[in-house]
Amino acid sequence: MKSSVITMLACPHCHQALRFDAEQQRFICQNEQLAYPMVKGIPALLPENAISLTPTEQNLNNHKVEGV
Ligand SMILES: [Zn+2]
Repeated sequence: MKSSVITMLACPHCHQALRFDAEQQRFICQNEQLAYPMVKGIPALLPENAISLTPTEQNLNNHKVEGV
């Protein structure tokens, strides 16, 4: 059994790996462009806590992406 230092958290919607946004203390699902906030230092990985990223935030994450 391998021990890993980094625990990969998965999106409760799509089960893709989440990326940690250290600046805003939240987890990002890049697959769905959703953000999950940290609540008291604990990731709130519940579908009802998911926040849709704004187009501006999406651009920050993905550099230049042509918007819809
Ligand atoms: Zn997702």
